[in-house]
Amino acid sequence: MVKAQPTGSCWCGCGAETARGSFFVPGHDRVAETAVVQTRYGSVPDFLLHHGFGPGKLNPKDELAAHRLSARSVARPPSRRVESATDWREEAARLWPVLVDLARRKRSATYKDVGAIVEVFHRNLRLPLELIQQHCAVHRLPRLTVLVVNGDTQLPGAGFAGSLEELDQLRSAVFAFDWSAVTNPFEEPT
Ligand SMILES: [Zn+2]
Repeated sequence: MVKAQPTGSCWCGCGAETARGSFFVPGHDRVAETAVVQTRYGSVPDFLLHHGFGPGKLNPKDELAAHRLSARSVARPPSRRVESATDWREEAARLWPVLVDLARRKRSATYKDVGAIVEVFHRNLRLPLELIQQHCAVHRLPRLTVLVVNGDTQLPGAGFAGSLEELDQLRSAVFAFDWSAVTNPFEEPT
């Protein structure tokens, strides 16, 4: 992808001159964004759905947090992200019993530790976790993925948006649930 370069006049189309190195007159980035969203998608929810975001689908906050994390790490091919839904099923299949075991033992574990167990680089762990989170959302299961936490913050994913109190509730729900009654949804039937 070609990186955008400022041209000296506002990219919203107003024709105003911009400060050196700026694409927009202050605030006009939102004008441009709104114009594109409205004319090409209709509304912000339509825009989200078009790109696979929404309730029970991709979580915008989680995606942004993960994006910021990965932007800080070494560059990697962006195509992998697009294929994630099918690409990471095998990893999700390995991850599921690890999470269930944590739930049974009423424990959390770090991305690093869980990544090592399932042999997924910890920065990529969010991808199979996302599949599991989606599965839990769709099947109204407790959010099993809250048990995987950042080693520094002890919080699940950088994208966890809730309060600590909410986290406690989510965790308790995961611990209380009888996961032995649920078969690994990512295991291919043999
Ligand atoms: Zn403008």
